[in-house]
Amino acid sequence: MDLSCKSAGDKSLVPTIAHEIAHSWTGNLVTNRNFEHFWLNEGFTTFFERKIVGRMHGEPFRHFECIGGWTELECEVKHLGEKHDFTKLVPDLKGVDPDEAFSIIPYEKGQALLFYLESILGGPEVFEKFLKAYVEEHKYQSIDTDIWKAFLYKHFSDKEDILNKVDWDAWLYAPGLPPVKPEYDYSLAKKCTDLRKAWIEADENDLGQFTLKDIEDFSSPQISEFLGFLDQEEPLGIKKVEKLKDAYKLGERNNAEIKFRWIRLCLRAHWKDIIPEAVKFITEQGRMKFVRPIYRCLYDWDETRELAVSTYNDHSSEMMHATRQGVGRDLHLIADDKPQDG
Ligand SMILES: [Zn+2]
Repeated sequence: MDLSCKSAGDKSLVPTIAHEIAHSWTGNLVTNRNFEHFWLNEGFTTFFERKIVGRMHGEPFRHFECIGGWTELECEVKHLGEKHDFTKLVPDLKGVDPDEAFSIIPYEKGQALLFYLESILGGPEVFEKFLKAYVEEHKYQSIDTDIWKAFLYKHFSDKEDILNKVDWDAWLYAPGLPPVKPEYDYSLAKKCTDLRKAWIEADENDLGQFTLKDIEDFSSPQISEFLGFLDQEEPLGIKKVEKLKDAYKLGERNNAEIKFRWIRLCLRAHWKDIIPEAVKFITEQGRMKFVRPIYRCLYDWDETRELAVSTYNDHSSEMMHATRQGVGRDLHLIADDKPQDG
């Protein structure tokens, strides 16, 4: 099947489609017993999604996507707070609306755990046999993390010594970032980090060195990642933001991942020109992973806080329920049910 996507024009939606197809096995065929074990749906599916794009574009690209996921995981942990219960891979959701706990944590922390296990248990080929056996064993069932873990131990009974060295408590039940960062291949990410370094170190009154040539051999995911890396730093000055826009034509790109990171970066830099584009972006498309962070940035900036609230009030009826609730909480229009841990 041709998975090319016309809407962005650069096949950048292929991972999303791969993800949704992979849910046929993890999510639909094998289902999480309840939302405390949501990572069994989303962590596995994210892991499969990246294995599929790895088959299409090579293993380094799979690693590159994982590095991007790790960056977003760091962002989310920072946003929620590193002691927050919802940053646990298996959170305690008694008395909590699962929609409230929804974040990328089960996606990215779950995929990181599986990637880590794959690397210590013998690599992709060995681990794929486990994945097939896991789906076969648990198809048409709703399971939890203990059942998954017991099957992992059973399947790798000859590698129990390796499994016993995994810090299970930290991976599954501790808040914050995972205890181990998997060893990803940085070959594709290096160009993005090098360019970030050049921008961070540049004098804002002398930016003539930056031209479209810098990114001419970047793929869309690499442009997106470059912006994501840049956004992990302190907010940029206005002169750098304006130069970024002019040099790399960032205002003209239709790829939603690039647009999202570009708008987020500009809002954090308090660049007023981006405000209309930010509002257009969050009212034209509904993906929670884009909409919530942009609303949060608008809320965090005094200049746009009221606009965030009025935009939400005007458009909340068009949102999916979970997004409406999430943004409502981000804008402090809906109360949280559960206080923060620690
Ligand atoms: Zn999913």
